[in-house]
Amino acid sequence: MAIIVQKFGGTSVADSNKILAAARKAIRAQKEGNQVVMVVSAMGKNTDMLIDLAGQIHQEPPAREMDMLLSTGEQVTVALMAMAIHSLGHQAISLTGAQIGIKTDSSHTKARILSISTDRIRAALDQGNIVIAAGFQGIDESFNITTLGRGGSDTTAVALAAALKADSCEIYTDVDGIYTTDPRIVPEARRVTQISYDEMLELASAGAGVMHNRSIEFAKKFGVPVHVRSSFTDTQGTMITALPESQDQVVCGAAMVRDEARITVVDVPDRPGAALTLFSKIAEKNIAMDMIVQNPGDAGQANISFTVFRNDLPTAMRAVEEATEELGAKAFSYDENVSVISVVGLGMATKFGVAEKMFRALASENINLLMITTSPIKISVLVSRDESSEALRIVHEAFGLEKEPERISGEKGDKKPSAKTSGNGDALARLQGMEDLIVEAIKLDESEARITLLEVPDQPGMAAEVFEEITNAGIVVDMIVQSFGHDGATNMGFTFPKEDLDKTLEHARKLSERLGCPPPSHSPQVALLAVAGIGMRSHTEVARRMFQSLTQVGINVQMINTSEMQVTVVVDGSQGEKGLAALKEEFADAMV
Ligand code: ADP
Ligand code: ASP
Ligand code: MG
Repeated sequence: MAIIVQKFGGTSVADSNKILAAARKAIRAQKEGNQVVMVVSAMGKNTDMLIDLAGQIHQEPPAREMDMLLSTGEQVTVALMAMAIHSLGHQAISLTGAQIGIKTDSSHTKARILSISTDRIRAALDQGNIVIAAGFQGIDESFNITTLGRGGSDTTAVALAAALKADSCEIYTDVDGIYTTDPRIVPEARRVTQISYDEMLELASAGAGVMHNRSIEFAKKFGVPVHVRSSFTDTQGTMITALPESQDQVVCGAAMVRDEARITVVDVPDRPGAALTLFSKIAEKNIAMDMIVQNPGDAGQANISFTVFRNDLPTAMRAVEEATEELGAKAFSYDENVSVISVVGLGMATKFGVAEKMFRALASENINLLMITTSPIKISVLVSRDESSEALRIVHEAFGLEKEPERISGEKGDKKPSAKTSGNGDALARLQGMEDLIVEAIKLDESEARITLLEVPDQPGMAAEVFEEITNAGIVVDMIVQSFGHDGATNMGFTFPKEDLDKTLEHARKLSERLGCPPPSHSPQVALLAVAGIGMRSHTEVARRMFQSLTQVGINVQMINTSEMQVTVVVDGSQGEKGLAALKEEFADAMV
């Protein structure tokens, strides 16, 4: 018999009527001949309320006790849902994370799933029950209750679907699918019929809160097709599968993380290992860094800027203070009123001019870009928070995301996504924990050169002007990094095919003159080293491990970007092979 996992989020179980409506959906699926596992969240804003309550009692509540507290939200819902199903004349049993056997590590409030035992669920299903599982929670090896992080019920649902080899995983929520951006902020946003795992992963980690990013890691790893749909209507929803909606579309969506904070460490000695000290301190505290920008050094010193979730700022600052002292860096600054706007699309990897289009659109509305980073399928810019909603709207419009793509995947002989793909089969069997990092490839690319424009005025429109000039000259820009401005000026670095060096330098020099900046710096050949796989960003230690292994062999990292798919660093052109060997050794344990 087919197994279906149905997950209902907070708004979908916010009151007794909604709980009964969800119960009816599950009963309907069972009557259609399926075995049904429901995963439910805390009712309405219950989790927020509990967090608020804890805050009234303790400024920084112990993480273990936070988990004890927050897990009660889901426990209320499972019991009520089971009662609802009984009241409708059907059999059901509610189970907590511990009762199911969702084993996690001990990182309270951000725990990772190690394993899930399915025996009890299967037995209950075979006895005719609808099984109701508490989302978001698990148990560590000492029987402490853990939680998976905000929004983590999605991850419980997809992980259960993977463990049970379910035929489908349905995510019922308060929107009727995945939109090109958050429809609450941009009402013109369009619902997409299908989106690829890679795009959804990037969008989720770029702020599309509709799915917990780690749930998509599970979906991709284990090949679980995820169907996102409305709890309140019967519309078609969105399928998250291996294929994108359209093969021709360059950008599939835009997202924002509204509440970010930027930290800049000033005058870090520009030597191998300096950045490592900083990143290690942050990683020790289990904080995810979002945008990371490191300038190629100027007179032996570099500035390093990065962003974190605003909630993580106090802890991040403690780590930075320790690192600054150890490094003898001059000072650090921060800004807690910034947001990151990103555009995502698989097509970006092969089409050029996307960054320039985004920068031009934002420039035309006078929005200043405080930092820029790019990765193969994502471009992110940092803006001031009071301009963030406007910036998201502008970018959405610039790429015409409200319009239906011309060609939909599945038409004209595209390979159709199979209902159930196999994931990484054999390799997965070797994993110790279900959420372990998977490294699929370690890559070296020696085909590019780098130019950095120095001391570009820190004003709206600069990135647009620079990349318009370069793109119009037919140069295909790969990585772009704009540092956080210092004394009214920023550095803009980019990589491009090395055979275009002369032509690009000519344009860069022209630009520098026009903008009144010093001549650009350049490397005729750089080496791009990338570690690619699943969990690259949620495993916050990947970037640190890359820095560490490269530092050990004396290699300095010039540029870095992190995405869900890969972490890429730029190093000196003569160091490629040596760096590749160091990374292969470092990540041997995670290679599949
Ligand atoms: P649930 O409680 O069901 O887990 P969430 O509030 O976590 O629901 O997620 C649903 C919300 O995500 C929507 O109401 C919407 O405002 C927001 N959202 C953000 N980005 C997107 C997007 N790209 N598509 C759809 N919804 C989005
Ligand atoms: N109740 C938890 C939260 O609000 C988990 C979830 O809803 O996914 O974050
Ligand atoms: Mg959610």
